[in-house]
Amino acid sequence: MKVLLVYAHPEPRSLTGSLRDVARETLQAEGHEVVVSDLYADGWKAEVDRADFPPLTPDARLKVPAASGEAFTAGALTADVVAEQEKLLWADALILLFPLWWFSMPAILKGWVDRVYAYGFGYGVGEHNDTRWGDRYGEGMLAGKRAMLVVTAGGWADHYSDRGINGPINDLLFPINHGILHYPGYDVLPPFVVYQADRVDEAGFEAVAEDLRERMRTLATTRPLPYRRQNGGDYLIPSMRLCDGLGAPGATGFALHLDGAERGRAADTAGD
Ligand code: FAD
Repeated sequence: MKVLLVYAHPEPRSLTGSLRDVARETLQAEGHEVVVSDLYADGWKAEVDRADFPPLTPDARLKVPAASGEAFTAGALTADVVAEQEKLLWADALILLFPLWWFSMPAILKGWVDRVYAYGFGYGVGEHNDTRWGDRYGEGMLAGKRAMLVVTAGGWADHYSDRGINGPINDLLFPINHGILHYPGYDVLPPFVVYQADRVDEAGFEAVAEDLRERMRTLATTRPLPYRRQNGGDYLIPSMRLCDGLGAPGATGFALHLDGAERGRAADTAGD
């Protein structure tokens, strides 16, 4: 496989950086091709602004989706964005590695998504009308590829469990796993999460590293999270509401978008 690691930590010697090295070395030892985007080291520009859309005239009002779509269609996006899009199209699998900061990804990584997922590439793909809501959630530019998160978190596993005060980790990561990865088509693997990351010592690191090696060895075979496909018949169009009768009795919120029949099997493969 061809694998793209997108790494977002300001310190190369961090725990997250060590996990990036473990992931890269294991994947290469397995015969995979690996490319790393190191956002801090590369000085990635995180904010979207008019400089991102060279065709825009100085007096034109900036409407980001329109400007993004026009620049994408014209092949006029900036070179840094185009390079990342090419890496995404090249890779069979994408792995995002980051510390959990305020229950989400660091701003530099969010800015990578904001800029690289241009209109026509990450969103605004496919026919979009009253009867078909585009190619998204399992379809899109990145369909057929795999993606997963490698996340370090200061909190305890219990704090992120079903009744934990921080909220369940799969709920917190839903906007990334479902909204950023499944949306443009990825099959999303269960996340690899290191809890109490600030307290990891040498022995703890070796245990974590071995678990991550196993996840890297099984990257091609791990069963994805069973997110429903938008155009698979589970949702009404154009309301995009889940059809009555689907979902576990009493289920609400994010859990509705997991296919219950598949959920048990996916839980068996969760490796965090
Ligand atoms: P580091 O600080 O680099 O290292 C952590 C430990 O691992 C250290 O003891 C280090 O010595 C050890 N280590 C690193 N590499 C190795 C190695 N190769 N071998 C052996 N030991 C090693 N946490 C939450 O749970 N939820 C939040 O919402 C949240 N928000 C945050 C917001 C901000 C702005 C910040 C700064 C932190 C936040 N945290 C939060 C905590 C954060 O998630 C952790 O600090 C972070 O995940 C730790 O990962 P790191 O890579 O920065 O670790």
